[in-house]
Amino acid sequence: MSFENLNLDERLLEAVDACGFTKPTPIQEQAIPVILEGGDLMGSAQTGTGKTAAFVLPILHQIINREPVNKSIGPRCLVVAPTRELAQQVEKDAVDYSKFIKFTQGSVVGGVSYGPQIQMLKRPVDMLIATPGRLLDHMGQGRIDFSRLEFLVLDEADRMLDMGFIGDIRKIVGAVPEKRQTLLFSATLEGPILRMAQSFLKEPESISLTTNTKNHEQIEQRIHWADNVSHKHDLLKHYVAEEEMSQAVIFTSTKRGADELVNQLNKRGQKAAVLHGDLRQSARKKTMDDMHHGKIKLLVATDIAARGLDFKNISHVINFDLPNTAEDYIHRVGRTGRASATGTAISLVCRKDWDYLVSIERLTGKKLKRDNIEGLEAISKEPKNRSTLGNAGRSWKPSRRGSIKRRRR
Ligand code: AMP
Repeated sequence: MSFENLNLDERLLEAVDACGFTKPTPIQEQAIPVILEGGDLMGSAQTGTGKTAAFVLPILHQIINREPVNKSIGPRCLVVAPTRELAQQVEKDAVDYSKFIKFTQGSVVGGVSYGPQIQMLKRPVDMLIATPGRLLDHMGQGRIDFSRLEFLVLDEADRMLDMGFIGDIRKIVGAVPEKRQTLLFSATLEGPILRMAQSFLKEPESISLTTNTKNHEQIEQRIHWADNVSHKHDLLKHYVAEEEMSQAVIFTSTKRGADELVNQLNKRGQKAAVLHGDLRQSARKKTMDDMHHGKIKLLVATDIAARGLDFKNISHVINFDLPNTAEDYIHRVGRTGRASATGTAISLVCRKDWDYLVSIERLTGKKLKRDNIEGLEAISKEPKNRSTLGNAGRSWKPSRRGSIKRRRR
């Protein structure tokens, strides 16, 4: 299958070519024809699978090939995304894919000043990309006219539910025309997401690509058992020094943990930058730009901040802490191995992470490979089964103090 088979406008094919894409990804192959036919769609595919082009390209095609329903200046397409990083990534992709057509896009996201957004909303915009809170602020002030809206995209809907945006989404969906094409993307299409899709979409076609994305076949996934945080630091130092690493994202579960880890790494001479939700937008943007330009090798991030991160050169994802949902693990791992590149994901797992490891292995359906680095072996042993865990290791200490001096812990 080639892009030419997808019946997209020539100018979009040129843009795709300029991006260097030679053939559509599986989600693009499946989603583009459905969207071009005008049907609603729910797709279980994550960031990293070419999902953005899968919806932006057919929407652009329809927008340039039909007249708007009226002459108002409001958006013809609204994309709602959970985080500003993801929204900005979608906007950047829309710019890339629309470079040979007459098309305008803009974003309204939190954490930045209102002024430029208010100015942007006074001009005609074809595609508006927004995070829910800021969008509702502008809507509340009567700044957005949805009367000519034809497309609504709910991107990473599962994450929006997790972040408690369901009420906001309902308000947004209630404010846009009933006659529209609605597309919903989510890592999973089960439970509450399915109910959400049923209430917002009309007879949607469902595309599921979870088996591929769940397994991340192109990404080598390993774990190393760790005794405690200090052991994790030693292991991390080793991996950063010994692995063939172009750029790595290192995940921690808390913002404080991320700050502490960056300090530790910098103290050890392994220069790192941090990305989390407490940083000012300008600082986050600078870090993102530095990552894009390869000025940073190690980025320490929390899950929320990492949502939508799309750096082509990430060879490694390291989980300093495991995330507390298996879906987040899959999402983190997908930061490497972008498009069809290969990558490596290494998780440092100690007793407090063990429950999470069990659920990750259950969801992905495979046992992750165990590393054992000579001289840095754990003193403690990984539990054999769930029942041995009990109280998730709070105040746990290694039962046997090792006499191995080389591990300064
Ligand atoms: P996404 O899932 O939209 O975040 O896309 C993941 C990455 O894949 C982005 O860097 C895109 O630029 C890239 N990409 C999208 N479509 C293709 C394609 N057909 N071939 C190669 N790379 C692609």
